[in-house]
Order: sequence, then C-alpha cells, then structure tokens
Amino acid sequence: MTKGGKHRWGDKVDYPLAHKSERECRNGCGVVKVHRHETEGGKDIHWVEYWRNGEMIPGGMRPTCRKIEEGA
Ligand SMILES: [Zn+2]
Repeated sequence: MTKGGKHRWGDKVDYPLAHKSERECRNGCGVVKVHRHETEGGKDIHWVEYWRNGEMIPGGMRPTCRKIEEGA
C-alpha cells in the first residue's frame, strides 16, 4: 500500500546567516526541504529547493518519499 510518497516535514530550522530554513522529512527518507530567501536589487526573492544526501534535486522537483515506497 502506498500513500503517494508524501513527506512529513519536521520542525523548521532557521539559518539566518545563510538566508535559508530547512525542514527534514520525519519519515527518514533523507529529503530536506530548503526555503531560501535573498534580497536582490532591492527585491525579496524566495524559492524552495529539495535536497537528498547532500545533493540538490534538479529543477526544484519534489521527490517522492522513498521510505514509504520501500515499506510498501
Ligand atoms: Zn520523505
């Protein structure tokens, strides 16, 4: 049985100096959702990245939660 590979994001951890905050998946799949925000040319820009095992997932795509897939 699969639940569609949804992540369960943990508590937000702020890194103000790095202009980002992170949430790690509590299912133990190793995916980290990173909210990044910077000021560029007087404008605030922010975006989301997904990381797994220290590598950014290309294209900002949200990966499925592998832990659930393996347990299915
Ligand atoms: Zn997950």
